[in-house]
Order: sequence, then structure tokens, then C-alpha cells
Amino acid sequence: MLLEDKDRIFRNIYGFHDSGLKGAISRGSWDGTKFFIEKGHDWIISEVKTSGLRGRGGAGFPTGLKWSFMPKADPRPSYLVINADESEPGSCKDREIMRNDPHLLIEGALLAAFAMRAHTSYIYIRGEFIRERERLQRAIDEAYEAKLIGKNNVHGWDFDFYIAHGAGAYICGEETALLESLEGRKGQPRLKPPFPANVGLYGAPTTINNVESIAVVPDILRRGGHWFAALGLPNNTGTKLFQISGHVNRPCVVEEEMGIPLRQLIDEHCGGVRGGWSNLLAVIPGGSSMPLIPADLCETLTMDFDSLTKLKSGLGTAAIIVLDKSADVIKAIARIAYFYKHESCGQCTPCREGTGWMWRVLERMARGEAEKSEIDKLFDVSKQIEGHTICALGDAAAWPVQGLIRHFRPVIEARIDAYQAAHKEAAE
Ligand code: SF4
Repeated sequence: MLLEDKDRIFRNIYGFHDSGLKGAISRGSWDGTKFFIEKGHDWIISEVKTSGLRGRGGAGFPTGLKWSFMPKADPRPSYLVINADESEPGSCKDREIMRNDPHLLIEGALLAAFAMRAHTSYIYIRGEFIRERERLQRAIDEAYEAKLIGKNNVHGWDFDFYIAHGAGAYICGEETALLESLEGRKGQPRLKPPFPANVGLYGAPTTINNVESIAVVPDILRRGGHWFAALGLPNNTGTKLFQISGHVNRPCVVEEEMGIPLRQLIDEHCGGVRGGWSNLLAVIPGGSSMPLIPADLCETLTMDFDSLTKLKSGLGTAAIIVLDKSADVIKAIARIAYFYKHESCGQCTPCREGTGWMWRVLERMARGEAEKSEIDKLFDVSKQIEGHTICALGDAAAWPVQGLIRHFRPVIEARIDAYQAAHKEAAE
């Protein structure tokens, strides 16, 4: 069954209605905000824990638990930082929230900041998102003017909300690189520990959350954590913005319940796979860093954290890239490998050297100019990158390569055979 309209959180995700304050209020935003604040910091955290909300930025860490790591009595200021870098290829949901439903995000930021005793929030927006920044800034100005946020606002919790506009580096979506960039330095990830909840922005306690994770908070509080927890599947609760691109008839962003079958998502919202379901080759289920899933496993696949983990892939940002049988899967993964090579910040040797090495081997494999023994070597090198770097970009570069070898080894071998046969023939 598809998500019913009454359970929809994002009611203006396509921008058909007014994205300004008046429109947002007519859709229920800023309703009861003061009442939730009066209930106290711990009540909000407990409701978010009850909801079972898991971070929507890719890692899927429980949001309420993350908030509870923030110190309760610390002389330093606390900060909420919202990650709107959205640079993972395939991901395009946070921009729709900022463009079309920005007040959900601002209200969520106030409530989340209050829960963590923070008076200031920064949102770090990807460099390319010019219009999104303008729309969000307009909404922030409206909220200040209406005294919904700012000093002495109607909610009784002083709260300032600032936009920081990045310059378009993928790595600034990694939370500690984002903090470095916010502080005015080169966006390079920090070693952890210390974790941001202890030493974050300007050396103070900081929580970094994804745009969608924050934007769903007001509705969770308005309708109750139990309402959210009743949607989706156990441990994979609530609704989620799915983004489907690639070889489908109608690519789209759509809010659905967690755990929706992939096939239903594609057939009902995207008009099906180009050329029909039988023309499906594979999907990349959660943004380009997630290992691909071949068509035979897609038939019964449900879109949630746990099902995808079982298949050695992941929900990531729920950015689904569909490949039909016209796609050259080796070339597609080589292109993804090039992206990660290009975006590596260069601090760790396995990532700096390994990403380029994997890309070069994959390019040769796409042409068939490789030995079959190199397939295992490539897998081995990807394993030596995975888990041996400061940040997750190393993993993000290794996983697509592992997915390719796990599921499409015969295709690589056939390409090598064809190349060698053609050369033998030419030589003879
Ligand atoms: Fe930089 Fe790559 Fe190391 Fe991350 S894994 S810190 S991107 S070199």
C-alpha cells in the first residue's frame, strides 16, 4: 500500500504551493511549537527516540540517541549544524526541502537546537545550490520578522539560524570536513575521537544532522513519536524521501513509507523501468557509494536500512539509480570511481593513491584490456582501502567496486575474453 496523504510530512515537495510563511502555516507548520518547547529538552529527545527516526543523511544512526550525547551542563555554547551539502551523486531530496518547504526545516532546527540546549544553528549548503540558498534565506528572514526565531522570539528560546554557503567540494559533506570548512579552513576531515558532540564547531559541543532528519521533527512532535514509529517497518520507521533517477520513465523524488518494495516504488511512481521490468540490469540503491544490486535480487527487495544491509549494500540517502540493460555496468562503476578519485582530499594514502589506482584498472577493464587475475587484485585493494582511512570516502570509493565484482564478475571476464580474442584474431 502506498503512503496515504494524511501521513505525508512534505506536502509541498514539488513546489506547487506557496513556500513562504503563509503557505507553510496553512499546511500546519509553526503550530504548537511553543507548547513543545515548554515541555522541555528531554521530552523532545524522548519523543524523537520513540519515533525510531534514523538519520536521513546516509549512516542511519538513531537521531534521538545522537542528540542525547550532547552535554547537559557545559560552560561552552552548543551548536546544531545542518548538513545541506548533498553532494552524493543521485541524491536530490534536501534541495527540494530547502526550495519548497523551508519552514519545516527552520521550525525543526529551532526544536532540535532547543532539545540540545543550543541557541545557534548553522546550515552548510552545497556551493551549487544558489536558488535553494535564496529560498531558504527568504524563509529565515520571514521567520525572524515574525519573531518565530531570533532574540526574544515568541517561543521563549533565543535562536539564531545562519546559512554558510560551501564551494562545491564533495568532502565537505563529511561532518568534520564540514566543520573545518565552516571555521574557514580547507575542508579536510578530522581524526575522531574527539567526536563533535564533545569537540565540534569552534571546539564546542556540536551535533550535525541531515536536512531531512531535522525537517521531519516538527511533525513527529505534532503527531507523536508513536505515529511515526507505526509507519514503515520495525527498526526502519517513518516516511522517507526516495529519489529515483537513471533508466526509468519518470525520474522523481517521492515521500513513501520506509520498507516500500523497490518494484512498487519504480512501477507506481516512475512509470516503470525503461523498456519494462525485464529490461532491468541493476540498481544502485542509496547514492553512488552503495554497492549495486543485480536485477534478480531487486524483484523482492524492500527499501529500508536492514534489508539492504543484508544484501551487503545500504539505503544511504535512498537515492536510487536505475541501470537498464543498455548500460555498460563496468564503465558506469569506472565513472563512479573517477568521481571519488577526484573528490579525495588526499590526507590518507589508501584513499589518495587507491582511488586513482582503482579507477585506472576499471577503465582498462571496461575496455577489456586486463588480465583475469586483476579482478581479485582489484577486490583485494578495495578491501585494503575500506576501513583504513580517516573518513568514509575511502569506503565510499571501495564499495561500488566490490559490488561490481561480487555480482558482475562474468561480465568483466567476458569483456577480457572478447578483447583478447579480437587481438589474437588481428595478430593472426
Ligand atoms: Fe581525505 Fe580520503 Fe582520507 Fe577522507 S579517506 S580524509 S577524503 S584522503
